[in-house]
Amino acid sequence: MKHHSFRRWSLLSLLFCCFSGTFAQPVKKLRTIVVDAGHGGTDFGAVGQYEHSLRSNEKDVTLAISLKLVTKLKQALPELNIIPTRTTDIYQDPRQKANIANENKGDLFICIHADSGPLQTGRRQTGTRTVTRYKVTYKGKGRKKKKISKPYEAVEPVYEYYKLPLTRSGTSVWIFAAHKTSDKLKAIMNESGQNETDFEIESGSDSAFNSFDFNSPEGRAIAQVYAKRYQEKSDRLATMVNDEIEKTNRAALGVNQRQKGIWVLQATNMPAILIETGFINNPQDEAYLNSEEGQDELANSITQAVLKYKTQLESINHTTNSH
Ligand SMILES: [Zn+2]
Repeated sequence: MKHHSFRRWSLLSLLFCCFSGTFAQPVKKLRTIVVDAGHGGTDFGAVGQYEHSLRSNEKDVTLAISLKLVTKLKQALPELNIIPTRTTDIYQDPRQKANIANENKGDLFICIHADSGPLQTGRRQTGTRTVTRYKVTYKGKGRKKKKISKPYEAVEPVYEYYKLPLTRSGTSVWIFAAHKTSDKLKAIMNESGQNETDFEIESGSDSAFNSFDFNSPEGRAIAQVYAKRYQEKSDRLATMVNDEIEKTNRAALGVNQRQKGIWVLQATNMPAILIETGFINNPQDEAYLNSEEGQDELANSITQAVLKYKTQLESINHTTNSH
């Protein structure tokens, strides 16, 4: 996952989308699911780089898995609106991706990514070469001192450097952690070096935005509602995805929370999860992510999780409504 920092104003516009306006009543029925194929176009995401890697790009893997996921979700839930953020290799900044989800009034936002990690460099000797070196000596003293370079031949090893593959593998699911609302807001403010004055300058003609103060009690309250409304649901779906992955032969690395670095999850006005489907620099994972079988299995696991989420969501609503 190679994530992006927003330009200040775009981040703020996103936050504005989330926090401003009226919060709709909690979704009683799942109607629209937005599937985001991470990265795209000039944004390659992570790239397979270890020796003998398939040299696959995260953007291609995420697109292939997302297309399969969209197809499977449409088959399993024909009455639902399943919207991909992209179906081809195009660049979208995270703001565009979030806008697609928000404008379509998504009830779920599922981001497909592939993981990576730092690679160690290995070295091996491939042969030797003969080089000319010089032995330097000095003759005489003072002003008469003379430098004498005497050439001689030496044999030195020739090395080849290569990237070792990653040993880590498996699928992890991420949600944006917002349980400490004031911390979250502080993180947002600090990240962008933001203060209220900048808001007003950069928010243009939008008067509602101009007057919005994240530090106000009201601002905190809105953020808390946001966190309450979506975090629990995001966590529930993330757990269901992890459970489905556990049923396969691959490692399920659990549900993880981040407070920074996944703006797109927070920028969407709906429960949102990000799935790191596998490590592109792990040979088994890279092969899996590029195979029809692997892509199908991942798409199936996610679809099963969404079906369970839907059933649970709608049965909870049913119980609530009957009182
Ligand atoms: Zn990514």
